[in-house]
Amino acid sequence: MKLDATDLRYVTADEFRVLSAVEIGSKNHEIVPSSLIAELSGIRGGNVNKALGELAKRSLVGRVQNAKYDGYRLTYGGLDYLALRTFSRRKLPSIHSVGTRIGVGKESDILIAADENGEKRILKMHRLGRVSFRAIKSKRDYLGKRRSASWMYMSRLSAQKEFAFMKALYEHGFPVPVPIDQARHCVVMSLIDGYPLRAIEECEDPADLYSRLMEMIVRLAHAGLIHGDFNEFNIMILRKTGEVVVIDFPQMVSTRHENAEFFFNRDVNCIRRFFRRRFRFESQSWPTWKDVLEGEEDELPAISEDAEEGEGEETKAEAEPIAESSKTAQKRLRIDLEVEASGFGRNLQRELEDYMIEVQDLPSSDDEDEEDDEDEEDGDEEGDEEAEATTNNDETAPFDEATFQAEMSARLEAIRL
Ligand code: ADP
Ligand code: MG
Repeated sequence: MKLDATDLRYVTADEFRVLSAVEIGSKNHEIVPSSLIAELSGIRGGNVNKALGELAKRSLVGRVQNAKYDGYRLTYGGLDYLALRTFSRRKLPSIHSVGTRIGVGKESDILIAADENGEKRILKMHRLGRVSFRAIKSKRDYLGKRRSASWMYMSRLSAQKEFAFMKALYEHGFPVPVPIDQARHCVVMSLIDGYPLRAIEECEDPADLYSRLMEMIVRLAHAGLIHGDFNEFNIMILRKTGEVVVIDFPQMVSTRHENAEFFFNRDVNCIRRFFRRRFRFESQSWPTWKDVLEGEEDELPAISEDAEEGEGEETKAEAEPIAESSKTAQKRLRIDLEVEASGFGRNLQRELEDYMIEVQDLPSSDDEDEEDDEDEEDGDEEGDEEAEATTNNDETAPFDEATFQAEMSARLEAIRL
């Protein structure tokens, strides 16, 4: 499928304004009242409804109408559209066309895309809302502190984090995809010409591959990082050279994390287990946490439990550890600190991490009705936890490949991507 990303005429100027208004309204209303949409878009009544009707037809927004509510919510389709539009409107468009989907994770869609020269790349769409937020809602403490725990917000956070880490790793010469662009819940990166380790049935020299992977884990740790999901799905083997490329970074943690040792050992054990099962290979040696700590004369304090809650803006304080440890930083690479200082700070990381921990044990679908939101005032910043915590049912329904492809094609057709 070759679609032209620069031709956006299928969404009119009014429709785009209205869609943007729904997005803005979504920041504190899961269901945005029609009146607020009209106000935010600055478009008169009749035309707003017409635009909303068109957008709803293409599933870019979803209408919610019941006794309590008459409004719209942004769908993943709408958010996808906005992100794709951003990419296609960059001075040097990072995405010009989108093709087939090559992967679907619990919390992402992976699509092949291309730039204007037809150079292939990967578009990763983070989809954290597939897991019910209603289930999280029962944990009042959690949401009480994080009213912004919506699917849209969390997916964006996840994409931002992935991009920040990929960029830092790339800049320091780690074998990761080339980070190209990020907007909303999406990351654009280079396409790795290879296979996930999982697809390798036979290995000529498992001992060599094993030690290269273990070295990678240690090399990361010496730069202050633990992948956190270092498994056969997130390790790619280059087709031409057999070299290793690491992907998938939303769960990456700092070696200063309170559970760093646990995550480190889990990554190591993941590899050991895979090699045992797949290649019947077992080594007598594997890296330990002690190996990581060795040589860390100037060890940094662990991340404090009660870091201030942030609202997304990073404070100056985030950058301090770098200054404090500049002596160490010169001696030893600290990518974790670099990322913190570069805008994806501890508070944001913690927020995402808490979400990830929360959803681990939750059911993956939710069939309750969603409309139990409290009445909301326009622009009200407080008391919106309920609205934001409700599940976007469309988005959490059991996944169906055929439906997805049809919807995606229609969506792209709509923006002529
Ligand atoms: P998830 O978070 O859903 O696990 P991943 O980033 O691990 O998403 O991607 C899922 C799958 O998509 C990978 O296992 C891999 O097969 C494929 N994939 C992801 N990124 C790339 C890439 N840059 N190049 C080639 N394949 C990729
Ligand atoms: Mg993965």
